[in-house]
Amino acid sequence: MTDSSDCNVCGVEANLQHIIMECKKYENARSRPKEQVEKSGIQFRIKELIGKVAKNKQRETVKYLGQYVKDTGLIDVL
Ligand SMILES: [Zn+2]
Repeated sequence: MTDSSDCNVCGVEANLQHIIMECKKYENARSRPKEQVEKSGIQFRIKELIGKVAKNKQRETVKYLGQYVKDTGLIDVL
């Protein structure tokens, strides 16, 4: 596992989808925003959050995504 693009926690490719949606490292921080987003009837997946969200829900999902990125410290990584 020498590839620097691999996640050092899970040992899989550390792409955006993995880091934001799947990585075990951020499981706890993810649970709250994920719950909020899903309560709004939106799937907590990148494509849903960024691409498919209805205009009137965009502000909400961006807010939760931002909260998650801050909580995890990902804001300094991304
Ligand atoms: Zn990971």
